Amino acid sequence: MESKDLNYSNFIQDIINQDLKDGKNDGKVHTRFPPEPNGYLHIGHAKSICLNFGIASRNNGLCNLRFDDTNPSKEDTEYVESIQEDVKWLGFTWDDRMFYASDYFEKLYEYAVKLIGLGKAYVCDLSADEIREYRGTLTEPGKNSPYRERSIGENLSLFESMKNGEFPDGSRVLRAKIDMASPNLNMRDPVIYRILRASHHRTGDKWCIYPMYDYAHPISDYIEGITHSICTLEFEDHRPLYDWCLETLSLDHPRPQQIEFARLNINYTVMSKRKLLELVKGNYVNGWDDPRMPTISGLRRRGFTPESIRDFCDRIGVAKTSSTLDTALLEHCIREDLNKTAKRVMAVLRPLKVIIDNYPEGAEEEFEAENNPEAPDEGTRMIPFSRELYIEQDDFMENPPKGYFRLVPGGEVRLKHAYFIKCTEVVKDESTGEVIELHCTYDPDSRGGNSPDGRKVKGTLHWVSAAHAVDAEVRLYDRLFKEPNPGEDESRDYKEDLNPQSLELLSSCKVEPSLANAGGGSRYQFLRMGYFCADSVDSKPGAPVFNRVVSLKDSWAKTLKK
Ligand code: ATP
Ligand code: MG
Repeated sequence: MESKDLNYSNFIQDIINQDLKDGKNDGKVHTRFPPEPNGYLHIGHAKSICLNFGIASRNNGLCNLRFDDTNPSKEDTEYVESIQEDVKWLGFTWDDRMFYASDYFEKLYEYAVKLIGLGKAYVCDLSADEIREYRGTLTEPGKNSPYRERSIGENLSLFESMKNGEFPDGSRVLRAKIDMASPNLNMRDPVIYRILRASHHRTGDKWCIYPMYDYAHPISDYIEGITHSICTLEFEDHRPLYDWCLETLSLDHPRPQQIEFARLNINYTVMSKRKLLELVKGNYVNGWDDPRMPTISGLRRRGFTPESIRDFCDRIGVAKTSSTLDTALLEHCIREDLNKTAKRVMAVLRPLKVIIDNYPEGAEEEFEAENNPEAPDEGTRMIPFSRELYIEQDDFMENPPKGYFRLVPGGEVRLKHAYFIKCTEVVKDESTGEVIELHCTYDPDSRGGNSPDGRKVKGTLHWVSAAHAVDAEVRLYDRLFKEPNPGEDESRDYKEDLNPQSLELLSSCKVEPSLANAGGGSRYQFLRMGYFCADSVDSKPGAPVFNRVVSLKDSWAKTLKK
C-alpha cells in the first residue's frame, strides 16, 4: 500500500516507502509513542507524537501509546494521566492500544532466562564502580568481569534468587554477554537487570528487579508488533544493542527497526524533563501548566490551539542533525491560527478615564461591531457607549514625539466603531503630576467613526464604556528565559538565565461587557493589544482572567520577508 499523503516527505517516510515496496512486515506500518511517565510532556514530545501518530495514519498504519515505566523511582500516575490528556488534546487517538512496559515484566523476565540459557547473559557481582572501571574507555578495550564465565545453571539459579529478593539492592546485576572489546561501549556487556526495591506505580512491590531501558525497549516493540521504532538521535549508538536483543532472541516477525531523528530544541526555553521538574518543584513557575512553560499543558493554558502545534511540527519537518529553532516560529503558527478564528474585542489593559463633556449625562447608545473581519460569518455584536470611557494610558501623550498619531492635547482621534473625539483638558494628580483624567468633546456627526466632512484623523483607539466595563485581570507573559540558550556556557546555572520579567500582572483592566463570562479556554484578539485566552483555572463568571497568548507583532513574518 502507498502513502496516503504524497506531499509528505522526509527520510523516515523514504524508509517506509522502501519497506512497503519490498513487502517488508507484510506491508504493515506500526509505530508507538513511548513516554516515560516521569514528568509532563513538552513541545519536543509533541514533535515525536505528531511524527509517530502522523506517520502511522499517513501510511494506513497504527500507533500505540506505551508508557515506558521501567524506572519506578521517578514515575507517577499523575504523569500517566497528564500524558493521555495531552496526546488526546493534540488530536491523536490510540484506540484500545494503550500499553505499559510494565505489562511485559513477566515476559521480559522469561526472555532474560532464555538469554541465560543461550549462554548470552550472566549474573555479575561487581559493584557499579567496578563495572565502570572494567568497561574501559573509547580508546581502551574493557576487561572481562571475573563472573563472566559462570555456568548457565549457576546464572539461572542466581537470577531467580535476585527475583525472589534474596540479595540487597545493587549487589548483583544481570548483564548481556556480548563483547568487552567492542568499539561501542554500549556493547561491552551492558547491564540488563538490576535489583531495586522501589514500589512501582502499577506492579507495586511485586518485583524487586527491573529491566533496563535498552533491553526492555526492543522486546516491548516486538511484543506489540511495532515495525518502525522511531526515537531521538542519542539512541543511535544504542541501536546495535537494540538489534542484538532481537537477533539473539530470534524475535523477527515483524522485526522492529529503530530509526533515529533529531530532537527538537527551541531557544529561550529548556526542554529537559529534569530541568522542567526542578522549575516546578522549586516554585520558579506556578506548576507544570504555568503558561510560560514549554509543556503541552502550559501551552494549552496559555491559549495555544492543537492546530497551531500540529502546524508547527509539520513545518519544522524531521531531520537527522540537531538544531535549535526560533521560538518566533511557534508564535507565528499560533498567530496565524488565531488571526483566522479569534473574535475581535476591546479591552483596556492600563485604563485612563476620558469624560466627553458634550455627551448628555445619563445617555447611552450602542454600536455594532464585527466579530472577525477574517470570518464574516461570525457576525456582529453591540457595544455600549456612554459619557465616561476608558482608553489605554499609552494612547495619550501630553508632549508627544514626532510621528505620534494618538491622542494629544487639542488633538483629534477616532474611537473605533464610535465617534471622533478631541482632547480639551488634561487633569493631573496634584502631588505626582500623573495624568489621571482627560476631558474631551465628541463630534456627533462622526457617528460610527466616519468622518463627517472629509476631515482626517490618523489615530484610531480602542475603548470601553466606564459604566458598562467589566473588571478583569490580565497576565502578560514573556519568554521564560532571557538568554537564547539558558545556562549555555556551563559557567552559570540555567536558572540564573530566568527572565525576571516573564510575567506582568495587570489587575485593574477594563474589558467590554461581552467578555464578562468568557469561558476558560476561549480565545480573543484584544484590538491592538494581542491575542488573549481566558484562563481555564482562575477565570470566574463576572471576573474574567486573561492570559496573553502572543502579541500582534510577528518577528518571524519579518524574517521571512527579509
Ligand atoms: P527528556 O530528555 O526531556 O527527559 P526523554 O527523551 O527522556 O525526554 P521520554 O518520555 O523518554 O522523554 O520521551 C518520549 C519520546 O519522546 C521518546 O521517543 C523521545 O525520543 C521523544 N522526545 C523527547 N524529547 C524530545 C524532543 N525534544 N524532540 C523530539 N522528540 C523528543
Ligand atoms: Mg527517554
